[in-house]
Amino acid sequence: MIHPDTRLSHASDTIGLGVFATKPIPKGTILWALDDLDQRLTPVRVRRLGERYRALLDRYAFANAEGEQVVCWDIARFVNHHCQANAISTGWHFDIAVRDIAVGDEICNDYGALNLEESFDCHCGSPVCRRDIHPVDFDRYADAWDALVRDAFPHVNRVPQPLWEFVSPKRLVIAAARDPRRAPSIRRHRLVASSPAAPRQVAVRT
Ligand SMILES: [Zn+2]
Repeated sequence: MIHPDTRLSHASDTIGLGVFATKPIPKGTILWALDDLDQRLTPVRVRRLGERYRALLDRYAFANAEGEQVVCWDIARFVNHHCQANAISTGWHFDIAVRDIAVGDEICNDYGALNLEESFDCHCGSPVCRRDIHPVDFDRYADAWDALVRDAFPHVNRVPQPLWEFVSPKRLVIAAARDPRRAPSIRRHRLVASSPAAPRQVAVRT
């Protein structure tokens, strides 16, 4: 579930739709959390789907560490990639704001952390744009993403958290807010490519 202070809007002609903040969202806010309405499709179920569904999954789903395709039921599926993402996944099943987000800012995450099977060209416009977003980016940048998340974690207990009821494990999250070294690495979401549960296709939400 995406943070309630967001809306779907036109991002650009190149990118299409995106998700934008409607109120200031401070660093440390949980921006998205996996919830019970989000679909998780096993590789077997994905294989049984027709091409039309697979095309939709290519566009809107991402692969988790179990090789499932995860489809967000709300506007979270329109969150775009950016090479300086303001929403980074924690080692749990939620994303956190790694800096303050102003009204009108687009909420973006880094697709390099979504277990890509193929690379794609990036046009995010960042001065540090990687241009080619590659499956191995997960391994290249996991430490940097962890550092951003751990820097934001002390704020978790200090800012409003409208998605708190969807967060788990609460006790460990609170402990990590007190001591960010206890926050697990994003590497927990890494899909091992040799796994028999590996997904068929690329997970890119645009
Ligand atoms: Zn970029």
